[in-house]
Amino acid sequence: MVKVGVLALQGAVREHISSLEECGAEGVAIKKVEQLREVDGLILPGGESTAMRRLIDKYGFMDALKEFAVEGKPMFGTCAGLILLAKNLVGDKPHIGVMDITVERNSFGRQVDSFEADLAIKDVADYFPAVFIRAPHIVEAGAEVEILSKHNDRIVAAREGQFLGCSFHPELTDRHDITAYFVEMVKEAKAKQFV
Ligand code: GLN
Repeated sequence: MVKVGVLALQGAVREHISSLEECGAEGVAIKKVEQLREVDGLILPGGESTAMRRLIDKYGFMDALKEFAVEGKPMFGTCAGLILLAKNLVGDKPHIGVMDITVERNSFGRQVDSFEADLAIKDVADYFPAVFIRAPHIVEAGAEVEILSKHNDRIVAAREGQFLGCSFHPELTDRHDITAYFVEMVKEAKAKQFV
C-alpha cells in the first residue's frame, strides 16, 4: 500500500485523507517536517495560499518540500495547492515553484466566488463535478505540461511528470477519480525507485 501525505497546515485535510483511503492508499496528515520522509507522495490542499505560505515558513517546511520534489516524488496541488506548486504567479513571487506553469489567483471573478461545473478530465473522467472556490487558473503551461482539462477556455487541470494540479476541490465531492489517478502516479513512482 502506498502512503500519501496531505500537508496539514491549513485547509481541507480530512476530506483528502478519506478520499485517499477510498482509493486504497494510506493517508497521513503531515504536521511536522520529519513526516515527509514517511510518505511516497503529497497532496497540497486548497485553502488560502498566502496563509499556507506563512505557515510553511513558520514551521520550516520550504526546503523539505523542494527536496521532496527533487527526489521525484509525486505532488498534487489542489486550488491553493496549485498556486504553491507553480513556477510563476501573476503579480506575485512563486512559493515552492516546481511546476512549469503560470497561475493567476482568484481568476473567475468576484461575483462568482464559487460554482460547480461538469468537467471532462483527460485520462480521469468524462464528467467530473468540479467545485471551484475563489479558484485560480493556469494562464500558461510549459512544453512538458499536459493539459488535462479546461473550463471556459481556461486551463483548470494539468500534469507535468510527477506534478499534478487542479483549480478545483476534488475532495469536496464524493467522486474519487482524480485522487485515484494521483494514487496511480504515486504507485508508479514508487515502483520505479526499486528498479
Ligand atoms: N483564493 C485562494 C488563494 O489564492 C485559493 C482558494 C482555494 O484554495 N479554494 O490561495
